[in-house]
Amino acid sequence: STMPPLLAAIANAGRHGVLAKSAVAMERLGQVDTVALDKTGTLTEGTPRVAELRPLPDSGLTDDGLLALAAAAEHRSEHPLARAVTGAARERRLTVADATGFASAPGRGVSATVDGHTVQVGSPARLLPAGADRADSRARHLVRDLEDAGRTAVVVLRDGVPVGVLGIADRLRPDAAATVAALTELTGRPPVLLTGDNERAAQRLAAEVGITDVRAGLLPQDKAAAVRAWERQGRRVMVVGDGVNDAPALAAAHCGVAMGRAGSDLALETADAVVVRDELATVPAVVRLSRAARRLVV
Ligand code: ADP
Ligand code: MG
Repeated sequence: STMPPLLAAIANAGRHGVLAKSAVAMERLGQVDTVALDKTGTLTEGTPRVAELRPLPDSGLTDDGLLALAAAAEHRSEHPLARAVTGAARERRLTVADATGFASAPGRGVSATVDGHTVQVGSPARLLPAGADRADSRARHLVRDLEDAGRTAVVVLRDGVPVGVLGIADRLRPDAAATVAALTELTGRPPVLLTGDNERAAQRLAAEVGITDVRAGLLPQDKAAAVRAWERQGRRVMVVGDGVNDAPALAAAHCGVAMGRAGSDLALETADAVVVRDELATVPAVVRLSRAARRLVV
């Protein structure tokens, strides 16, 4: 065929299940020397499930009551953790109140008004500052237990007071370890994990796939700052992510790659390439395709 090599590579990448948005994007995929991977929805399947419900004794809530309250607040969020919460409420056929005044803070959680109460659902690190309150310290205790068991803990606050903690379980993608190994070989250094989740859950998961450099508890702008710092050192960074919280890092990277199936609209719009087949192993495959095309171009 007489098709230019980069266009042929785009077509080829498409057959692998990766949509490169332009010839420039296709070329950049092969230029990267540093890879930063998001955790939830990228290294993991992104279909987490609620595994534990822990209402605090003073809250007066049952397991179902806690879940229904959290689901009401999460109703309009597209975050994988929000889908876990609303999905669990649906499975239990709970009545979920209509919430108003929904607001979401990427990397932190959500808030909404439910039955006249302000309900916040989200990151323990952000919502449980070092208060000496009894409810606060009980909640922190539950969070620690759940995180030690490898869960992502999500706290629920009603009018500023913790009322319970949810333990959420997520599975590693089956091709995560093989992808990390392939990317390590292609770039000469292991990928780095960038996550908004807690340090313990992140370290545990990283160890399973062969990642040692873990940056946890990051807000969206922290992820982008890490990428910009590497770029200033002359590195060419690929970011692979799925969430609204990854959009600034995807934009800052030499090449941003979004996971398409569960990916947020903002991540898909910001990325240079989209993994539409939902297999992480397609990422090293298209890096190879890009490099092969470049050899034909030059
Ligand atoms: P990751 O970087 O691993 O994809 P995020 O940055 O999306 O994680 O989220 C970081 C943390 O913020 C989560 O572990 C959770 O504690 C909290 N969080 C963010 N969005 C939500 C939400 N919609 N519901 C509950 N918790 C949330
Ligand atoms: Mg994510």
